[in-house]
Amino acid sequence: MSPEPLRIENQRSATTTARENGLSIARATKAFETPEGGLVHALDDVSLDIREGEFFVLLGPSGCGKTTLLRSIAGLEVFDSGEIYLGTDRIDQIPAHRRPVNTVFQSYALFPHLTVAQNVAFGPQMDGLSRAAVDARVAEMLALVQLEAMGSRKPSQLSGGQQQRVTLARALAKDPRVLLLDEPLAALDLKLRRQMQAELKDLQQRTGLTFVFVTHDQEEALALGDRIAVLEHGRVAQVGTPQEIYETPETRFVADFIGETSILTLPALREDGRLTVRVADGPAVALPRDVPTPDGTVTIAVRPERLVLDGTAPPLGTGTLTSMVYMGTDVRCTVSLGDVELRVRVAPPYDALDLRPGATVTVGADPRSLRPLDPEPVAAPVRAGSR
Ligand code: ADP
Ligand code: MG
Repeated sequence: MSPEPLRIENQRSATTTARENGLSIARATKAFETPEGGLVHALDDVSLDIREGEFFVLLGPSGCGKTTLLRSIAGLEVFDSGEIYLGTDRIDQIPAHRRPVNTVFQSYALFPHLTVAQNVAFGPQMDGLSRAAVDARVAEMLALVQLEAMGSRKPSQLSGGQQQRVTLARALAKDPRVLLLDEPLAALDLKLRRQMQAELKDLQQRTGLTFVFVTHDQEEALALGDRIAVLEHGRVAQVGTPQEIYETPETRFVADFIGETSILTLPALREDGRLTVRVADGPAVALPRDVPTPDGTVTIAVRPERLVLDGTAPPLGTGTLTSMVYMGTDVRCTVSLGDVELRVRVAPPYDALDLRPGATVTVGADPRSLRPLDPEPVAAPVRAGSR
């Protein structure tokens, strides 16, 4: 086994295009047997194209297949069918220890008896580098994560955030082409997690490496990802930039999982050929995109911060303010219009508004912020090809 030369700079991206060195998952399936003798489809026909140098986030609830996908890329799990490519090279048949990827897990898994520097040196030493090359590599990696002064400490003498930075330095010291991160910040408290998110994003930008980052936390995904893939039951529900995922969800699952949203199923009308709805006894509102309406209804999602109570947007309908919660930055209101409930986030100043439970209010919205969702499949789809 001849080790690759160890480099961390942007040389690859300077000489090749992103496409050539992207990470592609093609039609991956993976099922596990349950103790009861059933099958869990952890991955069900997953295809993804991750660009070189991209901060790519896999987002979804617990059990949707994120770890299975990451472990498969790392070579710790084998697909039932499907392929993995790095650029044009197929890598899913290469043994885990020889794949040009490295993984950071939630648990730090540092060697407790070794110093920070020895922990970082471990990989390069295993690759057979000279003493001088290992030392240079360790110094470079510790500088990268701003732990130059901590090299002779033991992991137990570091804070949680510092330990996680050592884990990163150790993973990067092997000069992977792709860094895989499985909920690496989940064990940290909120303030430290936010700080580490900023550091990770900065580290990824400075190294130009491809990061594949797993999280179940939608806020973390929006904050970190260049693009996000939302997974639902082993399937890719949607791939897009944080803004696309948040502003233009395609399915009910994505709309519901990311951020707060109101989801309304309303009779679908056609006026002048345009898909139109009425909320309770409000006016007809033309929707910004057309979707099939096989059962005569359309489901729309709307974000609470896109709705207003102060008359500054066209009216959707008039109803009763049923609850309000003061949050400091805004007031979170619920308005009932007939059998429809809308959540509305009202930003300050509130003085001009008569905000009190029981008040009659008119909810307004720019029609472009009403997002029609793809109709749900009527029955569970037949899963051809998966076992
Ligand atoms: P996530 O990381 O998104 O929480 P996982 O990839 O860990 O999800 O798991 C996906 C599904 O596969 C879950 O239903 C889980 O219980 C199941 N699963 C994962 N690994 C195994 C295993 N080794 N044996 C049996 N079932 C598994
Ligand atoms: Mg997991």
